[in-house]
Amino acid sequence: MVRVRFAPSPTGHLHIGAARTALFNWLYAQNHKGRFILRIEDTDFARSSEKMSKGIIEGLEWLGLTWDEGPVFQSRRIALYQKKAEELIKKRKAYYCYCLPEEIQERKESVQKRGKYWKYDRRCLHLSEETKAQFEKKGKAKAVRFLVPEKEIQYIDLVHGQISINTTHIEDFVLLRGDGMPTYHLSVVVDDLDLGITHVIRGDDHISNTPKQILLYEAFESKLPSFAHLPLILGPDKKKLSKRHGVTSVLQFKDDGYLPLAIVNFLAQMSWSPGKEERIYSMEEMVQKFSLENVSKGSPVFNLSKLDWLNGQLISQMPASDLFPLVQEELERENLWCKDFSGKNKEWLMKLIDLLKERCRTLKDFSVSARPFLSDDFPVDSAGVEKYLKDERLPALLSILREDFAGIDDFRAENIERVLRATAEKEDVKAALLIHALRMLTLGMRVSPGIFDVIELLGKEKTIQRMSRLEQIKDFNKSSREKL
Ligand code: GLU
Repeated sequence: MVRVRFAPSPTGHLHIGAARTALFNWLYAQNHKGRFILRIEDTDFARSSEKMSKGIIEGLEWLGLTWDEGPVFQSRRIALYQKKAEELIKKRKAYYCYCLPEEIQERKESVQKRGKYWKYDRRCLHLSEETKAQFEKKGKAKAVRFLVPEKEIQYIDLVHGQISINTTHIEDFVLLRGDGMPTYHLSVVVDDLDLGITHVIRGDDHISNTPKQILLYEAFESKLPSFAHLPLILGPDKKKLSKRHGVTSVLQFKDDGYLPLAIVNFLAQMSWSPGKEERIYSMEEMVQKFSLENVSKGSPVFNLSKLDWLNGQLISQMPASDLFPLVQEELERENLWCKDFSGKNKEWLMKLIDLLKERCRTLKDFSVSARPFLSDDFPVDSAGVEKYLKDERLPALLSILREDFAGIDDFRAENIERVLRATAEKEDVKAALLIHALRMLTLGMRVSPGIFDVIELLGKEKTIQRMSRLEQIKDFNKSSREKL
């Protein structure tokens, strides 16, 4: 059975790259009806924090990447790593090293000064029994080092293909530090073995660690898992994606009004195509189609406008009833929520959501575009005032239109449109003149969904009231321009 794991270190947030690793592991497990295990690699006590672990867990849950086992916390398994290191010492595949870091540094510098290549000089491998006994007597701190054999390591990476590395330049790396704490290489291999991991799917930044880990599998006389290294995600400047690019935690995207399915599609489509079209795929579709062999070898570039597009696609496809709770949250945050929306005005809000969703790229856009429907306090686009409210015929035309609107019994979009067009014809002006003016007066915006639907939802009373604000808005616009 396929068993994969996501193994974040809680020294930082669940960033985009890590979330992609989690997603690909999850998809692989689901596709093979295997198991997805969450392991928190928190042995770096100084840099790890519980808050980060919680944030990572929250981020995974939000994305819908639930795990079948775990979370396994490495910090609770130190004794196991120590036991495994001792096992290698007994088999003479590892040895104690009593060198202090400053002693090693001194030797390294002197070798490098002579222009030579440095790797740990195995001084402690050759210590006499007598010296060792002396050190032990003194209680000198000792690390455990792996004895790296001379050989050619070969494996097939499921993304990159055949990889071969000679061990010549790999030094006898540390497994347990002087304080008894395991290094990443030891804990990762011990855990992957203990948890029966069959496929190690992780970022390319770990590709240089794999040879050392393969040596450890061999030392433990265990079967290798398959490896798949996912190409690193780059920022728009083609450098490794980082905070500098303004891309932080996945949960930041939640706060910014993105939907988990859009993020998952974005992550998936960065280095793998679930189908020919660029569109939103459901989790089920992605699970069905996922294969590591089709992951591209090249580094994908983080493209925020693609994410915006996908998020907008998803929002426009969602039924208003699904969007409702999300829009509620957003409106509450912006103090635009009114409790009648859960009661007698629910239908009205659903209609508004349906009207606005086509043009919303994020949930945040709902509060911006819904504001004029929910409050009289909304911004007015001053360039729009200049362009569409300047015509000298407007005061008279609007007052006629107001009266014509007042006469509509059934204030529905088609009736509103019919009346407006008739007024335009009667007064011998283009309907567009009235439409643009109406849009500016009712919403303060130059673009919006169909104006007749807008006006229907706004209602007769509010529409007529806003139509009489022409002079007020023009004056305000003038004075605010003078101030500038
Ligand atoms: N803890 C490592 C990290 O966060 C991942 C280890 C692994 O996947 O082997 O980068």
